[in-house]
Amino acid sequence: MGAAERDKDGSIAALKQVAAQFAVAVTPHVQSLIDPADAKDPIARQFLPDAAELVTLPHERQDPIGDTAHSPVAGIVHRYPDRALLKLVNVCPVYCRFCFRREMVGPSSIKNGSKGLSAEQLDAAIDYIAQHPAIWEVILTGGDPLIVSPRRLKEVMTRLNAIPHLGVIRIHSRVPVVDPARINDELVAALQGSEKAVWLLLHANHAREFVPESVAAIRKLVEAGVPMLGQSVLLKGVNDSPAALADLFKAMVANRIKPHYLHHGDLARGTSHFRVSLAEGQTLMRRLRGHYSGLLQPTYILDIPGGHGKVPVGPVYAEPQDDGSWAVSDPWGCSHDYSDPAVD
Ligand SMILES: *Cc1c(COP(=O)(O)O)cnc(C)c1O
Ligand code: SF4
Repeated sequence: MGAAERDKDGSIAALKQVAAQFAVAVTPHVQSLIDPADAKDPIARQFLPDAAELVTLPHERQDPIGDTAHSPVAGIVHRYPDRALLKLVNVCPVYCRFCFRREMVGPSSIKNGSKGLSAEQLDAAIDYIAQHPAIWEVILTGGDPLIVSPRRLKEVMTRLNAIPHLGVIRIHSRVPVVDPARINDELVAALQGSEKAVWLLLHANHAREFVPESVAAIRKLVEAGVPMLGQSVLLKGVNDSPAALADLFKAMVANRIKPHYLHHGDLARGTSHFRVSLAEGQTLMRRLRGHYSGLLQPTYILDIPGGHGKVPVGPVYAEPQDDGSWAVSDPWGCSHDYSDPAVD
């Protein structure tokens, strides 16, 4: 019996097993984006559970990017000196099947029965930021921070605003594309009026996430003065072709979102069916560079497993030669000599 047949036979039991391990949720909006007739639907693939998630490979980790080692108090991850994550909630409106924090988000991750930080934990987290003047940027992430009520968001923004050494409040969210109705006037108002720059990093992985409802939500944010950047994950069967990536990044740029990071998939448990090799990722990045607007080019990023940080892993175009010159490849793969003119 082939793997596909086995999956079909055991599908209900297998999916129950997946749901027992990892959170599952789909918003009505995301449901409406799925084409049930398309067996390879890139939206379904991102959000509907799959028996393949039960396959765990030896190099996959519970904490792929080493958050735990850098968490001084609940809700804070402080790995780089100038910026810290503040995780208000550990829930999301949808659960991405490839989520790198899949062991930490969702109802099953909640030990004290709450969906995020308690009032005391939030006080302690904000105190930590206030007591560390090196922190210039706070990144609200999660869980999805835009799932909290506008009132609560406003409260957190006001408290962060009062910390003099902060320059930037960054929000990582998928809400504008997975639950666009949440981006209402009240929520937008909660993000405005801050003395700090508020940047929104939208997580989106396919051009089909940009439909009139999400486009309207994005316009509301941008027109309210919130600059937006895009971050995407390179995912097999979702966006691992030059055309899919170009369409995604065009959809972002056409909606005033600059593609910022393309993440190489993290080694989270049960995500091997989404994995693309680093070499394939580099080839895709070269194709983008050769064919599309410079505005469409994100940085291809690996978060080194074990908590060693994020680094660019895109193609290298300039290689030093033994004679001190450089071999520089053009976007189409031809190599050219380059020597720096003599400098006094
Ligand atoms: C990804 C991440 C950041 C943000 O890094 P940038 O390169 O500035 O986007 C900050 N802290 C932690 C712990 C992270 O994992
Ligand atoms: S929105 Fe982010 S945190 Fe939430 S499930 Fe998706 S990848 Fe994970």
